[in-house]
Amino acid sequence: MTKENTIKSIHESLEKGEFSAEEIFKHYHDKINKKNKELNAYLSVFKDPQIEGSRPSVLSGIPSAIKDNILIEGEKCTAASKILENYTATYDAGVISKLKKSGVQFLGKTNMDDSAMGASGESSAFGPTKNPHDLSRVPGGSSSGSAAAVAADLAVFALGSDTGGSIRCPASFCGIVGLNPTYGRVSRHGLIAMASSLDQIGPLTKNVEDAALILNAISGHDEMDATSAKKEVPDFTKNLDKPLKGLRAAVPKEFMGEGLEENVKQLVLKTIAKLESLGVHVDQVSMPHLKYSIAVYYIIVPSEVSANLARLDGIRYGLSEKADNLFDVYAKSKEKGFGPEIKRRIMLGTYALSSGYYDAYYKKAQKVRTVIRHDFDKVFEDFDIIVGPTMPTPAFKLGEKSEDPLSMYLADIFTCPSKLAGLPAISVPCGITNKLPVGFQIIGRHFDEYTLLRVGHQLEKEGIKNQTV
Ligand code: GLN
Repeated sequence: MTKENTIKSIHESLEKGEFSAEEIFKHYHDKINKKNKELNAYLSVFKDPQIEGSRPSVLSGIPSAIKDNILIEGEKCTAASKILENYTATYDAGVISKLKKSGVQFLGKTNMDDSAMGASGESSAFGPTKNPHDLSRVPGGSSSGSAAAVAADLAVFALGSDTGGSIRCPASFCGIVGLNPTYGRVSRHGLIAMASSLDQIGPLTKNVEDAALILNAISGHDEMDATSAKKEVPDFTKNLDKPLKGLRAAVPKEFMGEGLEENVKQLVLKTIAKLESLGVHVDQVSMPHLKYSIAVYYIIVPSEVSANLARLDGIRYGLSEKADNLFDVYAKSKEKGFGPEIKRRIMLGTYALSSGYYDAYYKKAQKVRTVIRHDFDKVFEDFDIIVGPTMPTPAFKLGEKSEDPLSMYLADIFTCPSKLAGLPAISVPCGITNKLPVGFQIIGRHFDEYTLLRVGHQLEKEGIKNQTV
């Protein structure tokens, strides 16, 4: 087995009988036990393989890692938050039921930013995850452990969740593929809610084809999630090699300007040149309202966070502090259980939603959100995809931004706009600068993940991962 183990390569070896599913599980389990101390990618590691006699699919026996905000029945689910440290899930998330049916194995639950709030993995109540490319750097967040686990081959693939960029950011920093599906494509039943109008589950994988395979398995309507769409699910692995000639790609000038590190820009430009050589027609566009995305996102998200996290009150789930009266139970449990970033967002959100301020902040942000969405609609009248960088920089140093929330928020500058419009987006590795990976982002129309996967797959075949500046 090599570091390049993919779903396909493991599946083929299993079919040929080169090794058994139990042996694969053990191989990964041993490797995690050796390496996890250093990386802190896993919060819990499962002891036993979950092998069934039959092999229902191409995913049968494939070892995976699951972000610790996705419920697996009978296993702890902490969202890397102190308040949920001892919470055990009582049912399977929709995506977990689907993966179980496909015969996937689960190696364990992965570290993340506390309650999925952050862009570095450092807000975890259980210590930061390290970037496998450079242990002094962050792996990106909030799906930090999922990305680090796949990059270090401590899992063949992982699931993460993306509210403002949490799948694509760590994929970019760790040099792997991360796909945020269209809002509604994948069930969020059993995902610990952060900001419900944005949260989506998606795959982190070693290549684009694997992302397509996982999307096949986890997509589709779920009656337990009122926002899951009744949309037909195509076979995303089909026709990935269909020539790109004639496709139209837009490059928003707002993605290539202020804040973008020069080396990242050079790798993105090289990738755009590759797209042109594959017959894609590329044009620059302007999306004048993108500049409001961060401001809008950081009003809407704290507002929804303050509502969603109200249920963590010391009575129903997790940590509960003793006190003489009910109010003090709430207050003490929240004081002890919520980390600083959670408290900051609850305060911001409660303020933005309170009477007298609601119209000025929350309602206004929702209006601007619609205007941003119109910017996207307009571009998609003439173009099939929007491309640019995933992150403005490569992975930064541990501690570099953790004391400065605003600079951490700015890391979401290129990932949060597509979320406000509910669009699908993928990050594909597009080269190396100073030994650190860089990600190329492709955003598509609603429910057109296929085009993202097709473009990503063909760029990957062109070897963009090995470009340098
Ligand atoms: N960095 C963003 C935030 O902190 C994104 C988080 C996410 O996508 N879960 O809100």
